[in-house]
Amino acid sequence: PPSSPRFKSRDDADSSVNEDALAPVSSTTATQLIQERIASALQTGSEQAFFIGDLSATYEAVKTWRNSPLGDRVEIFYAVKCNPSPVVLHLLSLMGTSFDCASTAEIDLVLSLPTAPTGDRIIFANPCKPASYIRSAARAGVEMMTFDNADELYKIARHYPNAKLVLRILTDDSKSLCRLGLKYGAPLATCPGLLALAVKLGLNVIGVSFHVGSGCKDPNQFTDAVWRARQVFDMGAKAGFDFTFLDVGGGFERDGFAEMSVVLRDALEQYFPREQGTRIVAEPGRFLVSTAFTLATNVIARRRAIVGDGHEQAVQAEAAKEDGEGADVMYYINDGVYGAFNCIMFDHQIVHPYPLTISHSIASAIPRLPGPPPPNVALPVDLCTSMGYRSMEKASIWGPTCDSIDCVRQVVPLPTGLEVGDWLGWGEMGAYTMCAASKFNGMPLAEVYYTDGGNTEDAQAVRKILDGFEV
Ligand code: PLP
Repeated sequence: PPSSPRFKSRDDADSSVNEDALAPVSSTTATQLIQERIASALQTGSEQAFFIGDLSATYEAVKTWRNSPLGDRVEIFYAVKCNPSPVVLHLLSLMGTSFDCASTAEIDLVLSLPTAPTGDRIIFANPCKPASYIRSAARAGVEMMTFDNADELYKIARHYPNAKLVLRILTDDSKSLCRLGLKYGAPLATCPGLLALAVKLGLNVIGVSFHVGSGCKDPNQFTDAVWRARQVFDMGAKAGFDFTFLDVGGGFERDGFAEMSVVLRDALEQYFPREQGTRIVAEPGRFLVSTAFTLATNVIARRRAIVGDGHEQAVQAEAAKEDGEGADVMYYINDGVYGAFNCIMFDHQIVHPYPLTISHSIASAIPRLPGPPPPNVALPVDLCTSMGYRSMEKASIWGPTCDSIDCVRQVVPLPTGLEVGDWLGWGEMGAYTMCAASKFNGMPLAEVYYTDGGNTEDAQAVRKILDGFEV
């Protein structure tokens, strides 16, 4: 992995620096910052939902990757789509990661960072691109791009014949949360034909990429995928190419990473021994940002669950699917599935609330939480009771739009005493949340505030990096 990242030099014609990347970064813990913001909101009456982005969590994730069995071999190309926060991108760029972009706008965003990486630190990892995107990649000097079909090769031959092409192959993603193979990836049987066409068009194919699916639960999918990549490298040699590049995609999660990184490292050693000198990169998204963001939402309305009519029975039936029983109380909050909680629809997530205030009092709730915002697991009733809540009730939680699909949780235990104006927190909200949020019904997007994480070693390292020191 590059220890001294390459940055674009800026000239007058190229002065459009993205100022958002330089947003203020506080130096408190995430929990403190949440408390401060809520204390001020309670005073001013502000109810706007907000994210806290803890940059030390992203720093720590990069460190974990680099200290893992993959660290000395597999370069990070962060998947910008997962969370395009300019502040996070800026930190990652300074830490020397590279980037996976899926559109011209993402490429422009990365290239507008105050310390913009050079074009060779970007891969255009979208196998089906509009012609105009290919032309703009050529103008931006982003040479590496993926393809998985013949028409893409014709387009590239026309608009960017010198591009460095990476053949995205189909792999087994049946154990993953989001199965990307339904849409992308060339089956092995089609690869010789695609490579022959690339030869005919005079194109430069440099290697292979795959994606085992986002939220991969089975490390063996990586072994199988690396084996398939090896087959395609051999096909490439037969077609007359000298492949030097392997992109193992994303799909990594914090849970299970220790095992996954060993399995992937072993597969790479077996099928791509170091002495062959293949450059190996990965495109982690979720792994680097998921734990870094916490969302705070305001309870804007409350109703006792209606008993006895057909509607209520329908709600109860839906609820029964989740937890077996219906809710006693309905809370309406100011972010929902059309906003940051779109991850429920598109990323198959189950999100878990915890009270940040009860009856408008911060002190009664947060000090009893176990440390920083809790991990993204349900708060079982006995944990809540052991945290000092007198009694619990079953709540359903709804977003702010007028659509009944806008349900964030159908049934979840919460302490009694929550009122309109109270705040609920949601951990692990950094991946595939704010990037796909809409303003449907005129609902505003949650604001974002950043912290370096407080007084830890990682927080100090973040501060130094942002201040321009090498760490
Ligand atoms: N690379 C590509 C091409 C993707 O489509 C995605 C996610 O959809 C990623 C990387 C990031 O995946 P993850 O967030 O699971 O690491």
